[in-house]
Amino acid sequence: MTTEHAYPPVRMFIAGEWCEGSTGRTFPVVNPATEQVIGEVPLAAPADLDRAAEAAADGFEIWRNTPIARRTAILHAAADLATERAGTIGRVMTVEQGKPLAEAAGEVCRVADSLRWHADDARRAYGRIIPAAPGTVLTVRREPIGPVAAFVPWNFPAGSPMRKISAALAAGCSIVIKASEETPGTACALVRCFEDAGVPAGALNLVFGEPAEVSARLIAHPVIRLVAFTGSVPVGKLLAADAGARMKPSLMELGGHAPVIVCADADPAVAARRAAGAKFANAGQVCTSPSRFLVHESLVEEFTAAFVKAAEGVRVGDGLDTATTMGPLANGRRLAAMERLTADAVTRGATIALGGERVEGPGYFYPPTVLTDVPADALVMTEEPFGPIAPIVSFTELDEALAQANSLPYGLAAYGFTESAATAERLAGGLQAGIVSVNHCGGSVHEAPSGGMKDSGYGREGGPEGLDGYLVTKRVSHLLA
Ligand code: NAD
Repeated sequence: MTTEHAYPPVRMFIAGEWCEGSTGRTFPVVNPATEQVIGEVPLAAPADLDRAAEAAADGFEIWRNTPIARRTAILHAAADLATERAGTIGRVMTVEQGKPLAEAAGEVCRVADSLRWHADDARRAYGRIIPAAPGTVLTVRREPIGPVAAFVPWNFPAGSPMRKISAALAAGCSIVIKASEETPGTACALVRCFEDAGVPAGALNLVFGEPAEVSARLIAHPVIRLVAFTGSVPVGKLLAADAGARMKPSLMELGGHAPVIVCADADPAVAARRAAGAKFANAGQVCTSPSRFLVHESLVEEFTAAFVKAAEGVRVGDGLDTATTMGPLANGRRLAAMERLTADAVTRGATIALGGERVEGPGYFYPPTVLTDVPADALVMTEEPFGPIAPIVSFTELDEALAQANSLPYGLAAYGFTESAATAERLAGGLQAGIVSVNHCGGSVHEAPSGGMKDSGYGREGGPEGLDGYLVTKRVSHLLA
């Protein structure tokens, strides 16, 4: 373990107490910039998971009966603590996930703000009174659904857990969350903010373990009423099926392969600069990352040149170095995937305009890579790259580009660049994606929902819709006499 960047001890948090797994088994936590082991994450045994679920059942009764003003105050206090601690938490995130310090600390501040937004929005989760027959009071109420089991990945070590925790706790639910075993330190630091803010024991529980064992045990546990997952499509389908077989609803935030359509009337330099900015954020490991660039044939040369120039400006290095603008990939699996996708594209006739070879030395570094003339059957055009590879292809007619954009089973994010309002509407209406952005590739906002269509999942995070999955609607009619 390096002493240079002290990494805090990682524990699980069950029933208000920090604990080891009862088997004593652990996984190593690795710094992706150095490949050094920086810590150990405890793995839950089935008995630990049962204890967490039972704690969530107890915590639910306490939390749902806590007055909403008090709940809101506690969540605001947790958000303030996360903001105060953003620098420290960001450093933990950088050493376990790789992203640059500024990006990491910024992520913590953003999720703290999302927590405030959810806490405030839950105060307005009103029901309604319906005019009914005289002597009858007919109401529709929204109640917290119950204890939630949530499973989140490693690409946003603060963002992914916090979105689930915020919505669950704001709605009045309790939660058992399995954060990623690859980025456990950030999750612990966030949970500590809730503990210090006064969230009652059992309302929030954090576990780690063998992912498949943990999800199977928790989804099957009778107290769990909702399953929430962020991750890959294949795993999402497994968990959704498991939840469905037990008649438990689920929320699925899955992968994507976002097309960027650059129309004939767009400014190619502006489109390239904005798209490249989004492409290389978090080293491309974002479910909404722009990942297929469909450029009108009249602009493709100019767009490619501007994109390559923007990509050359990306400074790859250890995220702890303040000059770094793109860190390493988060794990060796992503590095191997980048090598495989690039080699496959080249074998099928693509040209490497930039990058294309891993950076030598320790660390999972892969440079910004731009591929041109990429054939439609190259794997990078159909498989979510989840890394810093940008394949560029040209099109002649917009209908052709829309058909190509919609040809995959994914439907998460899609982007378009055009100077025509009519074309912008055509893109907005024609793109099969839950998130469409025109003339920018901006990220999520608390006020509006994010989520997918088709294989990219269902349910929404953010916006008033973000609480929907965590609430259940009850009709109550009361005959007065
Ligand atoms: P993976 O499919 O093995 O795992 C994805 C996430 O799911 C990880 O956090 C993992 O711990 C978890 N997981 C795996 N099996 C599970 C199970 N049975 N129960 C509960 N959780 C389980 O792949 P990976 O190598 O970690 O990531 C690669 C792919 O995952 C990427 O190519 C991308 O498509 C997808 N991904 C998507 C997102 C997203 O934000 N939607 C985030 C991370 C990864």
